[in-house]
Amino acid sequence: MLKERACRNCRMVVLEEQDCPNCGGKAFTTFWRGYVVITDPEKSEIAKKMGISRPGKFALRLSR
Ligand SMILES: [Zn+2]
Repeated sequence: MLKERACRNCRMVVLEEQDCPNCGGKAFTTFWRGYVVITDPEKSEIAKKMGISRPGKFALRLSR
């Protein structure tokens, strides 16, 4: 079973063995809480606030 991890840089939630498809980052944490799914970043206020420019699942908070 793959664990979901959140990118420490942009908070995108990805599966275990990937680099972050959003920012290319390689630092992840499995300690995150809550998430938003962004389907249309151009039209999403949350995406703008969080600095998200592509669709995906993003953690709201990183615990560590
Ligand atoms: Zn990232």
